Amino acid sequence: MAARTILSPTSGFIREAGFTHSLTPARNCTFGCSYCYVPTMRLQGGLQPADWQRWGQFTTFKENAPELLARQLRPEQIIYCSPLVDPYQPAETAERLVPRLLAVLAERPPRRFVLQTRGTLIRRDIELLRQVPGLRVSFSLTTNRDEVRRLFEPHCATFEQRLETMRALREAGVDVWATLAPLLPCDPEVLAQAALEATGRDLVGDPLHVRAVKPRGATTRDAALRIIEHHGFQPYLDPAAQAELVQRIAQVAAAHGRQFLTGPAGFSLLSQVD
Ligand code: SF4
Repeated sequence: MAARTILSPTSGFIREAGFTHSLTPARNCTFGCSYCYVPTMRLQGGLQPADWQRWGQFTTFKENAPELLARQLRPEQIIYCSPLVDPYQPAETAERLVPRLLAVLAERPPRRFVLQTRGTLIRRDIELLRQVPGLRVSFSLTTNRDEVRRLFEPHCATFEQRLETMRALREAGVDVWATLAPLLPCDPEVLAQAALEATGRDLVGDPLHVRAVKPRGATTRDAALRIIEHHGFQPYLDPAAQAELVQRIAQVAAAHGRQFLTGPAGFSLLSQVD
């Protein structure tokens, strides 16, 4: 599919976090996580009904994204990629769109470019990632418990595979951060300790979105709510229990001289420019 534009001015959460633009290289995401907020946005964010009705079952890449990006990039931009899909979703293995985007970014880098992913496929592009000044990887780490991962995000890599990927990026000199979002049922101290050791950075995160504290906009999908109910994970939707979870992670971070921030304040750590 040919897109008309590739960089969108930000609004809401991402704008509050300090990003000026977002880049979404595809419509729909073949990781298909049970909790994914994106299909609950319905027609917002450029999605079509088929995208949110059959979330995760297919994807449509914007094949002219690199050419559009070359025209739209400016040095002052702070870009988040992506609030709507994972650029290293499984279908990217064959598509190979991200390397073409990275080549463009290396030639005319914006002020900051943040790649948000949980895809271990990113290791394929390590050499290219190193060549983009101002690039930062935000790697999603949602739980340390593999039985929980299998329930909520069965198409995503294991905890160990993700840690290994973060370590490989860091060792190669790529600026990599761990994003603990959404916080699934986990052992918070184990999760935080591992994320700190893998990245050596502050921690960013967010509990699962719930209607009790977020009356409008994107929220947790019904598929995840059914899993939560069936397996007795309801405390992870309780605002008081979520606050305690956040505090326990923040304590581990503080013991390492680091901070753990949530919401736009947390994601603003990613957009910051030295
Ligand atoms: S990887 Fe991100 S965008 Fe893709 S389905 Fe999972 S939560 Fe949604």
